[in-house]
Amino acid sequence: MVEPVIRVINLKKYFPVRAGLLDILRRKPRLYIRAVDGVTFDIYEKEVFCLAGESGCGKTTTGRTILRLIEPTDGKIFFKGEDVLNYTNEELKNFRRRAQIIFQDPYESLNPMMTVYSIVEEPLKVHKIGSKEERYDMVMRALEDVELKPPEDFIHRRPHELSGGQRQRVAIARALILNPEFIVADEPVSMLDMSIRAEILNLMLKLRDEHSLTYLFITHDLAVAKYICDRIAIMYLGKIVELGPAEEIIDNPLHPYTQALIAAVPTPDPEEKIGEIPIKGEVPSPINIPRGCRFHPRCIYARPECKVREPKPIEVSKGHYVACLLYE
Ligand code: SF4
Repeated sequence: MVEPVIRVINLKKYFPVRAGLLDILRRKPRLYIRAVDGVTFDIYEKEVFCLAGESGCGKTTTGRTILRLIEPTDGKIFFKGEDVLNYTNEELKNFRRRAQIIFQDPYESLNPMMTVYSIVEEPLKVHKIGSKEERYDMVMRALEDVELKPPEDFIHRRPHELSGGQRQRVAIARALILNPEFIVADEPVSMLDMSIRAEILNLMLKLRDEHSLTYLFITHDLAVAKYICDRIAIMYLGKIVELGPAEEIIDNPLHPYTQALIAAVPTPDPEEKIGEIPIKGEVPSPINIPRGCRFHPRCIYARPECKVREPKPIEVSKGHYVACLLYE
């Protein structure tokens, strides 16, 4: 059996809600935002695995928890068979070299006071890698890898002297410089102009092939997910409701929430009529998650059973799982 690069088992992250003085005096029980509420999945070598869903569904928290930028409330995380939650400080430092993150906003994630050279060199200094000359060669190679060529033209610039696409290339070079095996890409193209998005996605695929990278790709945009991802997991209110091969999820969505998300994707063809989006109401608060199927208040197919019984994921075809009572 092939060992996954990342294995996540029943991962949970609850954030405590700050209690008011009256709540404390009345001894009201502490409330929690259940941002991630029991997710399980594997990511295999050189795979682009996507977590998709509306903002607030828990996809970013899942990514950050896997990297231990946030400590989980419960669950297990394995990296190439190693128990990430049981790492010693030294092992955690090593993990932070082997697993990197690319943030959504290249305008905020790069220090405006630093030059491109210092930004890309910084992780090497933090991890005490290489002499000054060796670090110079590594920085120049990383900039060439992300197609900022010739690198000499970029190393003295500051982020405000770059376009959005160039900034995201610098952010990718900074993630690559430590030669990672796994990268969490958190909405890496959502802040970029449409024309630049395909360039960055193609660059990420090229780097995946050249450096044997494995990605956890987080996005709310299913068109982007279909383009770059091998498999897609759809999250709703902290849980995965559907998971499967990208084509299968987009072309044959089974969960009513996935169907609604896909119906809401705009089409470039003005002649094509957009049907009614099969969903009602707003996302409930993650503090008061509905009983039974958490999607039932918004589901047009909900039946009485859905209010009391939580659906379990069922494999409906090879590798395609859906958590909905309609399929049980
Ligand atoms: Fe809708 Fe019921 Fe399926 Fe939930 S379990 S998605 S409420 S049909």
